[in-house]
Amino acid sequence: MLQASPYPTSPLSHPLLQEMGVELEVARLDKIHPRVSGNKFFKLHYNLLEAKRKGHTQVLTFGGAYSNHIYATAFAAKEMGLTSIGIIRGEEEDVNNPTLEEARAAGMTLIGVSREKYKQKSSPEFLEALSSKFGSFYLIPEGGTNTLAVQGTSEMLTPTHQKFTHLCTPVGTGGTMVGLASAIDPHQSLLGFSALKGEGIKMEVEALMNNFGLASAGKWQVLTQYHHGGYAKWTEELISFIHWFWDEFDIPLDPIYTGKMAFGCWDLIQKKFFPPGSKILMLHTGGLQGNKGFTARTGIGLPSLSA
Ligand SMILES: *Cc1c(COP(=O)(O)O)cnc(C)c1O
Repeated sequence: MLQASPYPTSPLSHPLLQEMGVELEVARLDKIHPRVSGNKFFKLHYNLLEAKRKGHTQVLTFGGAYSNHIYATAFAAKEMGLTSIGIIRGEEEDVNNPTLEEARAAGMTLIGVSREKYKQKSSPEFLEALSSKFGSFYLIPEGGTNTLAVQGTSEMLTPTHQKFTHLCTPVGTGGTMVGLASAIDPHQSLLGFSALKGEGIKMEVEALMNNFGLASAGKWQVLTQYHHGGYAKWTEELISFIHWFWDEFDIPLDPIYTGKMAFGCWDLIQKKFFPPGSKILMLHTGGLQGNKGFTARTGIGLPSLSA
């Protein structure tokens, strides 16, 4: 079993919140496990149990060179006594970046493939070539979103979260969003902040709800205006916000997911989106392992993990 640590939900205090008559708390899911943090813990949990149940000894998955999913899978598999293989987008590229270095140290076998080849990663030919090379494996899709992942993310909320009227989460593939949507109460609204540019994610989230046969008792919507240029892109404004948030609340954010969500949520508070009396919960979905690699790649300093 993956071992979950208790994590705090921290109330924030700031004059703006008082002025707007709202409460804001952060669920520190980033603290649920030292390596398998945030939503990745929940997305991997049932998948790895299923891999074991089916008698597999190894798992295989895909991701980018700085992927939180790759990093979490390496450590979660290790903890579950499984070996792991990571197919990484982009040949030779950054094979020594902090994310991949630590994944490799956790025992993951890393295979870099060209961007061209990576696009065919779900084709039967590509998967067959992989099993003739590595033997049988349990396959976890890129980003980790499948039925068992969504079963996991539907368990991210606890009874203590019922007091909130609004929940805020980052959105990548949407797997976390739909699990949460299926779990909220009728009086709750779920806001998903897309880390990607474009409106396509709205339809993808709808499709995931339908494909997994999910319904929501509450309201939910995906917001697409807080991507800051697109996936893994950033603006000066976003970086300043992350530093401000760290100084003000002592909570580290990452620039790929949680920074964009918190930026968007704070912006909506300023714009009086939330009626007075709202109790808002931000879900800190983790991703802090990527900060080291981001700084190495861009030279831009970020809040450190250890502080
Ligand atoms: C992967 C990730 C997400 C996105 O999750 P999806 O289920 O793909 O939408 C959000 N936040 C963090 C920190 C992540 O690592």
